[in-house]
Amino acid sequence: MAAYRVSSAIRSMAGNYITSGSGMTDQTGGKGTPAFVTGSVRDVAVVGAGMIGLSTAWFLQEAGVQVTVYERHHAGAGASWGNAGWLTPGLSAPLPEPAVLRYGLRAVLSARSPVYLPLRADRELWRFLLSFAANSTTGRWRRGMAAYVAVNERCLEAFDTLAAGGMTATTTPADPFLACFVRERDSRGLLTELKQIRDAGQDVAFRPVNGWRIRSLEPVLTERVGAAVQIFGQRYLHPPEFIRSLADAVRARGGRIIEGADVTRLQPEAAGVGVICRPGQQHRHDAVVIATGAVFGELAARFGVRRPVQAGRGYSFSVPVERMPAGPLYFPAQRVACTPLNGRLRVAGMMEFRRPGDELDPRRIAAIVDAVRPLLHGVDLDERCDEWVGSRPCTPDGLPLIGATAAPRVLVAGGHGMWGIALGPITGQLVAQAILKGETPAELAPFDPLR
Ligand SMILES: Cc1cc2nc3c(=O)[nH]c(=O)nc-3n(C[C@H](O)[C@H](O)[C@H](O)COP(=O)(O)OP(=O)(O)OC[C@H]3O[C@@H](n4cnc5c(N)ncnc54)[C@H](O)[C@@H]3O)c2cc1C
Repeated sequence: MAAYRVSSAIRSMAGNYITSGSGMTDQTGGKGTPAFVTGSVRDVAVVGAGMIGLSTAWFLQEAGVQVTVYERHHAGAGASWGNAGWLTPGLSAPLPEPAVLRYGLRAVLSARSPVYLPLRADRELWRFLLSFAANSTTGRWRRGMAAYVAVNERCLEAFDTLAAGGMTATTTPADPFLACFVRERDSRGLLTELKQIRDAGQDVAFRPVNGWRIRSLEPVLTERVGAAVQIFGQRYLHPPEFIRSLADAVRARGGRIIEGADVTRLQPEAAGVGVICRPGQQHRHDAVVIATGAVFGELAARFGVRRPVQAGRGYSFSVPVERMPAGPLYFPAQRVACTPLNGRLRVAGMMEFRRPGDELDPRRIAAIVDAVRPLLHGVDLDERCDEWVGSRPCTPDGLPLIGATAAPRVLVAGGHGMWGIALGPITGQLVAQAILKGETPAELAPFDPLR
């Protein structure tokens, strides 16, 4: 097994194991009480090899913990593969807010809309939507945003820790990151949102750009783009390369990633947890982290996690370009994201509330193509490759679910919605800390999965 490179920060957290049984009586993960009961934790299972699960595995290894990652399909089979790859703390915010609700209500009534809601929504979806609407208030958004600030401000640093630890895939500065609009007045909503994000304490620098300056910054944009907002200090990555590299790093450090292992049940015991996989194998570990993306509830609901996680399906594809944009392009009105990835442009968008396993619907791809065709020069939107659909794991309050559950040795990490790539490594780092120290880091308190 390759030697572990243990960072001093995590080494000190590993030295802080809780050895008393004081948390044993509290099965609720209540605040101020160690939610996790340990002797020493040597062997942890992670269920799900997406950005969240693999990051958690990596940071646990950083402290010398043996990890086994159980993955139903293959590493990166879920949302972590075909997303836009933006690392944009300046934009990472809770999804429910009054403007999004108004926009969503209007959008679902339009056939060409970037939001799709089936006419006959099932009971689960109605429950999610009603709760989403109830959370779309200014007050809740502000509270949620304050919670995001604490992790946003550390999220890029966590990528640097991965790089310093030998991960080969890199992140790229988004220079520039441009949000683009047809009319100047369309940009006002984003400018207001960015100001609110900044007022909440997030360090984000931005400036509006108009007229000829837009095309001098980004010649790929057509004359139809009449206004833009430049956002500074953001980054992006190549999702498939990054996930492959993270999985390789976990393996190279002695971790096991068992692909094709569909976990059907977790069985907490006095001093460990049984992991039961189809077709009936059972393994035992000191603790388990559930990181199963949009199907989170299948395993987590049994452990007191009541918040639903709903699939907000998105689509992507890649196309050839005559000239690559200098950085990511965001079309907020069309809800489309474009990211340069190794000589092709990945185009991603759509929010479709359907079951995660449903087929890819070509009409959604067509809607994305129609939305951006008038806005981009020299981009061959008809030469598409890698057409993909995947599910953002969305919670009704827009906050992820991270931390200990009602069973002290079962933790969860998921529900990151639109921001699971950007927040993956910091989530993994904080979950590792929670397990090793036996208490919830302050940054995770608002994301209590038992809320
Ligand atoms: C179109 C689109 C664009 C996006 N763009 C961005 C972006 O630019 N920036 C950003 O930060 N985020 C973005 N996101 C969101 C981001 O992709 C997700 O938040 C993130 O990938 C979620 O990671 P995860 O590890 O929680 O889930 P996933 O990547 O879905 O991983 C979960 C894994 O668990 C496995 N699994 C499930 N159940 C079981 C089981 N019972 N047993 C074993 N394995 C199981 C699945 O097979 C899967 O591999 C985007 C999403 C979409 C759809």
